[in-house]
Amino acid sequence: MKIEEILNKKRTLSFEVFPPKKYDEEIDKLFDTIRELKTFNPDFISVTYGAGGTNRKSNAEIAAYIKSLGVEPLAHLTGGPSTYEDIDSIAADLKEKNIENILALRGDKPLDYNDDYCKVFKHATDLMTYLGKYDFSLAGACYPEGHIESESLYDDLQYMKKKEECGAKFFITQIFYDNEYYYRLVNEARKIGIKSPIIPGIMPLLSPKSIKRIKEMCGSTIPLGFRNMLEVYKDNPKVFREIGINYAVYQIMDLIAKGAPGIHLYVMNNAITAKEIISRLENVFSELFKAN
Ligand code: FAD
Repeated sequence: MKIEEILNKKRTLSFEVFPPKKYDEEIDKLFDTIRELKTFNPDFISVTYGAGGTNRKSNAEIAAYIKSLGVEPLAHLTGGPSTYEDIDSIAADLKEKNIENILALRGDKPLDYNDDYCKVFKHATDLMTYLGKYDFSLAGACYPEGHIESESLYDDLQYMKKKEECGAKFFITQIFYDNEYYYRLVNEARKIGIKSPIIPGIMPLLSPKSIKRIKEMCGSTIPLGFRNMLEVYKDNPKVFREIGINYAVYQIMDLIAKGAPGIHLYVMNNAITAKEIISRLENVFSELFKAN
C-alpha cells in the first residue's frame, strides 16, 4: 500500500532501521528486531541506504523482509553518484519485491566530495523527477532547522516545495529536540503552499555518545535546559537514558497534541528503545492513531 494513502486515513507510527555493517553476521539480529517492532503495529518501517550505494542489495532485501511480515516498507534511495542505469536497475528490483514507497534523497556528501560526484542526480529533486516514470509513492527529507548547506531555512523551503512539485507526497523531518523548529517549518511550508503531510522524526538521546553523534551527523540544536539535565547525569547511564526516553515521550505528546500527522522514530535498530517509548504512550497510540 502507498504510505500517502495510509496518511489520508490516519496518523502514522513508523520506525527507521539501517542495514548492519556486517550483513551476513548481523542480519538475523536485525530481522529479530524488525519482528519485535512489528508488535507495536507500525504503519511503515523505513530502511536507510548508503550514500554511495554501498548497501544497495541489503536495503532492498530488508525492505522485502518487512513487506513479508505484512508491514509497509519505505526504502530510502540516494541519487549520489548513481547513473540512470543504476536507478533503473534498483527500481526494477524494488518493483519485483513489491516495494511501493521510496524516500528519495541526494545522500550525504562524502568527505572527498567534488563536483563530479553527483553528475546525474545533483539533488533529491533530480532523483524524484527520474523516478516519476515508475509508480512509486515518493517521500522527501526536510529540515526543521534548515539544511546545513542552505543559506537560510527560507531558501531550503523553496527546495522543499520543489520536492513536492517533483512528486513527493509526504515528508519526514531531520531529527530535532526543540519542537518549535518543527512548528515553524510546518507554518512556513504551509505559507508557501506546501500541502503534503510533514512527519516529525524523533530520536531519543540515550547516552553522552549520542550527543556527540548528533552534533557530527546533523547539528540539531539541543535546548539548554535539556542539555544541562543530561550533563548532570553524564556519568549515570541509567538516569541519562531515562531522561532521554522521557524527553522523547514529552516531544511526541506535544507534537500529537498540536496535530502532527504521525511520528517517525529513529530507533537505531533497537526495539527496546521503541518499547520503552511506546509503553509510556499506550493510550496516545491506541486512541489517537486510529483510522478516521
Ligand atoms: P537535497 O534535497 O538535494 O538538498 C541538499 C541541499 O541542496 C539543501 O541545502 C537544499 O536546500 C539544496 N537543494 C535541494 N534541491 C535543490 C535544487 N533543485 N537546486 C539547488 N539546490 C537544491 N542519507 C543517506 O545517505 N542515506 C539515508 O538513508 C538517509 N536517510 C535520511 C532520512 C531522513 C528523514 C533525512 C532527514 C535525511 C536522511 N539522509 C540520508 C541524509 C540526507 O541524505 C542528507 O541530509 C543530505 O545532505 C541531503 O539530502 P536531501 O535529499 O535533502 O538533498
